[in-house]
This record gives sequence, structure tokens and C-alpha cells, in this order.
Amino acid sequence: MDITAKSKTTDIKFDVETIRKDFPILYTQVNGHPLVYFDNAATSQKPLVVINAIEEYYKATNSNVHRGLHYLSNKATNEFEESRKIVAAHLNASHDEIIYTRGTTESINLVAFSFGEAFVKSGDEIIISYMEHHSNIVPWQMLCERKGASLKVIPITEKGELKLDEYKKLLSSKTKLVAVTHVSNTLGTINPVEEIIEAAHAKNIPVLLDGAQAVPHLKIDVKKLDVDFYCFSGHKVFGPTGIGILYGKTKWLNQMPPYQGGGEMIKEVTFEKTTYNDAPLRFEAGTPNIEASIVLAKAINYINGIGLDAIATYEHELLQYGTEKLQQINGVRLIGTAAHKSSVISFVVDGTHPSDIGILLDKQGVAVRTGHHCTQPLVGFYKIPGTVRASFAFYNTFEEIDIFVKALNKAISMLR
Ligand code: PLP
Repeated sequence: MDITAKSKTTDIKFDVETIRKDFPILYTQVNGHPLVYFDNAATSQKPLVVINAIEEYYKATNSNVHRGLHYLSNKATNEFEESRKIVAAHLNASHDEIIYTRGTTESINLVAFSFGEAFVKSGDEIIISYMEHHSNIVPWQMLCERKGASLKVIPITEKGELKLDEYKKLLSSKTKLVAVTHVSNTLGTINPVEEIIEAAHAKNIPVLLDGAQAVPHLKIDVKKLDVDFYCFSGHKVFGPTGIGILYGKTKWLNQMPPYQGGGEMIKEVTFEKTTYNDAPLRFEAGTPNIEASIVLAKAINYINGIGLDAIATYEHELLQYGTEKLQQINGVRLIGTAAHKSSVISFVVDGTHPSDIGILLDKQGVAVRTGHHCTQPLVGFYKIPGTVRASFAFYNTFEEIDIFVKALNKAISMLR
């Protein structure tokens, strides 16, 4: 590790070496090199408390929830609902505003379907932005197609910031919902969501935020934001795959029809008529992912144990350090240079294809993501085939950035 890097970590008293010991996978060897895992925006690694809790669930708790009177069923139900409360507290929501889903994608689809059924009709408009992940584009397109509504897109600047003036001009009496990402997975831009929400609410328009890339890095307070819907995925926040969260204000949730029918979501079923449960169970048809729901709380407790402020400060240092190092490499062009960014660095290298860089980095043990990152319209805006994306988590180090930069220089010299 170089001297600057060392002093940076010491300044902010972030004990990354101790933290890394909680993540066994970080000690993997790849092609004879120690793994440098910079693909955290795709999925994050899991600490031992999460790994062990999965095993513990099947050894000591496994049973179906909400249905049984026996010991294990009560235990599973208590842990499942306890976890919901921990998620709720983490977002400053109340527990009946927290719906378990499979992930951000399902959370957005749920709103697009159920909110859409209740509130969107022919001629209405949904506003999204140019920097959305496909999962915050396609469900709205499907809704628009079903209802004869149309999609309006907030344009962005070359730096990768939303054009807020243009956004405000798009808001009208036809707008039924604004759905934007809190943090861009490709650019790292942290959007000014307070201003976005305020402008929409001034016209009584609800706002959904895609928090998939925000929750792993930032403290989220849904009450303070006054956001109407907020979504995130367990696997990006150091928890298991197959679990996600939809936060929704009760006033909306109880006006929305169910997303799927089945067990759990009903009050009473006869062949003539079914009455539905209140939120959140109304939106949780069938046996949920019990294990992952319970373990998600362990992941949230884990990051709260480190502290989101400390995490944000440290990751910002990593971002600055990585950005400075990459800017020194001839031919590297950063994609996404917003003033407020999370720890994502996307770039292209003159005369090379992102996939070739990705393959050559992997040969040297460095895991990055290359391609369009499920944001094809966005990479189209930059007229590039895709980017190389290095995304950092709090267990990454300045030393790893040095290894990455060295490996990148080698890849570039091989390709030229
Ligand atoms: N939104 C953003 C900004 C993302 O980065 C991702 C995943 O990369 C998603 C949504 C979809 O998340 P998931 O695949 O966990 O549902």
C-alpha cells in the first residue's frame, strides 16, 4: 500500500483489515492472484453473520410462517416479523409499510402493476429518467402499453446529472407517478431526490425511488424524504439473494389491488368472493423467502454496527483516490462525473472494448463489470458500447485500487 493510501485510512479510523476478516470470500485466489472484488454494484459479498445465520435458520427455525400453532412455526413467524421491524426501523418506516419481495425488480413491478391498476388510465403519463436501470424502465413501459399511457424521460447532462429544469417542465396534471433512481448503478450519480420529491408533491404526484444502489451506501429516512415508494434488494446490501423490500406509504398500499393471488394475502375466500388482507400481507401471496427475509435483518444490523456515516466517508475516500488514479491514465475517459457520486467509477479506454479490458483484468484477479449494466438507453446517450465499471464497498482498500490500476495499465498496454 502506498503512503498516501495508508494515511487516508488512518485519518478516518476505519479498520478495514478487521472488517475484511468477516468476509471469507475476499481471501479467494483468482488465476494465482488475490481476488480484488470491485463488482459490488452487481452484488455485494456476505459477512459471516449472514452466512452463519442461513445455516442456523435451517438447523433451528425452518418452518412455514403465519400458519401454524406449533413451536417452530411460531419461531419462524416471530423471526420473520422481527426482521420486518428491523428493516422498517432502518428506513424509519412502520413495519406494515414494509413488503417483502424478491428484489428491487419485483418491488418496482409490484407498484407498476398494482398502483397502475388503481390509478393509471389512458392518456396519463409516468416520468422516469435517462439513467434508469432496465428494471425501472420496462415495468413502466408494460404498464403504459396496458393502459394507453405514455412514458416521459428526464434528460441528463454530459456529466450524468438530471436536468431538473426539464424535469419540472414534464410534471403536469397527466403525470400519475415519478419513478427515478436514487443512485445510478452505471454513473454513480446520487440524484437530488429531495428536490425531485418536493417538485412532484407540489403537484400531488407520488414518487417512487429505486434505492438498489443507495441502501448499501447511504442512510435512508423515508419519512424525512416523504417518498411514497422506496425499493431495494437484499443481495446488494450484504444480505441474501431472493429478497427485496418495497416500502410504501399505507395510504397508497391500501388503495392498491393485490399483485398476486394465493395464500396469506386473503381475509376470507368463498367461491363467490374473496376479501383481501391489509398491507403488507395483501402483497405477499404464497410462502415467502423466509430464510432470506430473516437473514436480511442480520445484514442490516451488521452495516449499522459499522455505521453508515463511517461507511460513506470511507467509500468517498476510495472513490476520490480511484478517480484521481484513473484520471492519470492516458486514454481513460470517465463516464459519470457528477458532483455527488457514490463509490462507482465507470470508464472507457480509447481504442479498446470494455469486455477486453474486463477479461484481462480478471486474468489478474480483478473483478469488474463491463457492458451496459442494464442501462442501454444511458450507454446509448454516451454513444459507447458500454463501460468498465469498478464499484467499491467498505471492505475494499486503497491497496486494491493500486493493484487494479496496475492491472489496468497492463491490460491497456497489451491491447494497444
Ligand atoms: N435498480 C438498480 C439501480 C440496480 O442497480 C439494479 C441491479 O443492478 C436493479 C434495480 C435491479 O435489482 P435486482 O436485480 O436485485 O432486482
